[in-house]
Amino acid sequence: MPDPANPPGGTGGPARRQPPRLGPATPDRTATPPAPAHRPREGRVLLAAPRGFCAGVVRAVDTVEEALALYGPPVYVRNEIVHNQRVVADLRAKGAVFVAETDQVPEGATVILSAHGVAPTVRTRAAERHLNVIDATCPLVSKVHREAVRYAAQGYTILLIGHAGHEEVIGTLGHAPDQIRLVDGPEQAARIEVPDASRTVWLSQTTLSVDETTRTVEVLKSRFPQLLSPPSDDICYATQNRQAAVKLLVAGGAQVVIVLGSANSSNSRRLVDVADDAGARAAHLVDHARDIAPAWLRGVHTVGVTSGASAPETLVTETLTHLADRGYTDVHTLSAAQETTTFALPHTLHRPGPDQPPPMRTGDQALGD
Ligand code: SF4
Repeated sequence: MPDPANPPGGTGGPARRQPPRLGPATPDRTATPPAPAHRPREGRVLLAAPRGFCAGVVRAVDTVEEALALYGPPVYVRNEIVHNQRVVADLRAKGAVFVAETDQVPEGATVILSAHGVAPTVRTRAAERHLNVIDATCPLVSKVHREAVRYAAQGYTILLIGHAGHEEVIGTLGHAPDQIRLVDGPEQAARIEVPDASRTVWLSQTTLSVDETTRTVEVLKSRFPQLLSPPSDDICYATQNRQAAVKLLVAGGAQVVIVLGSANSSNSRRLVDVADDAGARAAHLVDHARDIAPAWLRGVHTVGVTSGASAPETLVTETLTHLADRGYTDVHTLSAAQETTTFALPHTLHRPGPDQPPPMRTGDQALGD
């Protein structure tokens, strides 16, 4: 697992390149390092920590790789295991087959459920088709599922703050479809109706903007004073830490913030929003360093760099090299938190014992009953 609190070592670029020089792993906004003799112009990079892979993404990616090692390709994965182009492309190259629904998986084959979680109906359908299901749902998403089921059983209306159509939201909605109302921001909070205002609770998607969610909850509480809050934060530690680190970048002088991440990654998009709200001149979400438009850097002395929870560190390393080639060679890490969270691999992912047959693979005859 990459250690998000530590800066990357080396840039891996060709020898002719001036490598980025990494600064301390703690905020240092006063130091003025000496300028290298031959860089084209002064330029500074502020690198966020933590950034990149969270514990849930490490677990999900490791789950696919371990399943490939145990069962051999192909291993099917329902939807993108995590929302990142590079991760999906790498796993596809190793033999993972991404499908939209379990109905596309051959009977009896192995299918991995993505980190975003699924509605119970997905598991039911997979069981009907005798699939070997390995659940890579992040434990912090599963926590929200359990909260939804518990409050629904107690007769509450659940106001789920989240983005319509996001996979995680679809999965959570599926755990109590009759009792959850989706609230997609403060404006919807001002309009939402509930059957009994005295029995309401709010929950949220794990990857939202902390600040916008706070505003949404304030609106809900002004309308439903007896609104319960979840027993612990639903917005996960990784989302909160990455947003706090982006605020440090802007406070430290980053004029432009580059966020490495894919367009369908909720937590990556929120990092752009947070940088904008914090006062950055501009913030851009890019899948690769090559997507950084030269115009974005025109007249910019300090660039902030971070990456979403599903973006591998190689994307950051490539970006540092890209920026170094353009004169941004002084790299300083601004750290908002140290992360130590790890999650064990799914218990259904195990090497078969001597007396156990391995799970069926594609091409084997399907179980029948
Ligand atoms: Fe889990 Fe948070 Fe990572 Fe999502 S962003 S996989 S909820 S740790």
